[in-house]
Amino acid sequence: MKRRTGQDRSITSRWRPATQAVRGGTARSEFGETSEALFLTSGYSYDCAGDAAARFAGEQQGMTYSRLQNPTVEMLEQRIALMEGAEACRAMATGMAAMTAALLCQLEQGDHIVAGRAAFGSCRWLTDTLLPKFGIATTIVDGRDTDQWRDAIQPNTKLFFFETPANPTLDIVDLGAVCGIAREAGILSVVDNAFASPVLQRPLEHGADIVAYSATKMMDGQGRVLAGAVCGHEDFIEKTLLSFTRNTGPTLSAFNAWVVLKGLETLDLRIRRQSENALAVARFLDGRVATLYPGLESHPQHALAMRQMEAAGTILAVTVDGGREQAHGLLDALELIDISNNIGDSRSLMTHPASTTHAGLSAETRTAMGVTEGMLRLNVGLEDPQDVIDDLDHALRAVGL
Ligand SMILES: *Cc1c(COP(=O)(O)O)cnc(C)c1O
Repeated sequence: MKRRTGQDRSITSRWRPATQAVRGGTARSEFGETSEALFLTSGYSYDCAGDAAARFAGEQQGMTYSRLQNPTVEMLEQRIALMEGAEACRAMATGMAAMTAALLCQLEQGDHIVAGRAAFGSCRWLTDTLLPKFGIATTIVDGRDTDQWRDAIQPNTKLFFFETPANPTLDIVDLGAVCGIAREAGILSVVDNAFASPVLQRPLEHGADIVAYSATKMMDGQGRVLAGAVCGHEDFIEKTLLSFTRNTGPTLSAFNAWVVLKGLETLDLRIRRQSENALAVARFLDGRVATLYPGLESHPQHALAMRQMEAAGTILAVTVDGGREQAHGLLDALELIDISNNIGDSRSLMTHPASTTHAGLSAETRTAMGVTEGMLRLNVGLEDPQDVIDDLDHALRAVGL
């Protein structure tokens, strides 16, 4: 019975991450389908009025409304939790919905958080603009400098919030050290793990409390849908986070959950191959133009990155001396790599963060983060890396480099 329909977590939790990525969380219907079913339904019906009342009272198991539960979305949530080694996971409509919910569900007026300086543009908007509007103060630190995290703690500090590797400067935060400082002070750490995915880095194993994702990136991995997820202790997910999300509604659609389930089946393969390709491309670029990639020995935090990650990921950054004009010229000369601001895609994509993903921040904030006018971010895809190298070689020549 179990074999045909549900899964016994005492068995599935023993599976290794690559197995979880293919099979974790699968709940089969009475038809025994092999691929996960797509349940496009907003509501659920009840055998009698008493059942409806019991389900709303939480006295009967079962689903009531797809803002709260959906079988396809639950399969994705379980699969991500199993891959992450987390007790629980809640899927969200987008990565930003995940970040917003992970922060707002547990903060209140008068609280203080410490956040890493190098971050996705919208994450910086949350910490610098949204939270202060509600009386929540933020201190921004250079995430690479562990002492700055300790020094920023105040009596009302509730959270540390950071990403590693960071977008797009590829700063690395020492997960063990920074989460350790938080633990000692009774502060929770929220890690945005979009760049690495649970295949390359599992922050909970280093002492993080909450891991939040843009599943749009590596997890879908083929540039199709937006999605997000928050992982952590069951208590946090089922009580604190759920009471926020069930009433505010950043719910993931079942269709998008199904697409991400398909993406997860190949995540392990894709991200390892794309990391190999990225390293080959980074080795080509290094020396020709200033190149930042955590997998290169020349990256100032290479040793730390390799200690906490299984491979260095799909993203690298290059900086040209000629500022925005030369950077835009290089993009315009590309023939294979798309000019696009997404990442994690199986296609190679390149963007100029200062005029796209980080354009919403002030020039001052950008400079302090290390996002210069000459910086370009490259997501290396699954193409033959030599074709990507040839394209970059041609584009660099076109702008005199
Ligand atoms: C893309 C991204 C986000 C936002 O995710 P969306 O799915 O686009 O909302 C947040 N953090 C990081 C590091 C990202 O790369």
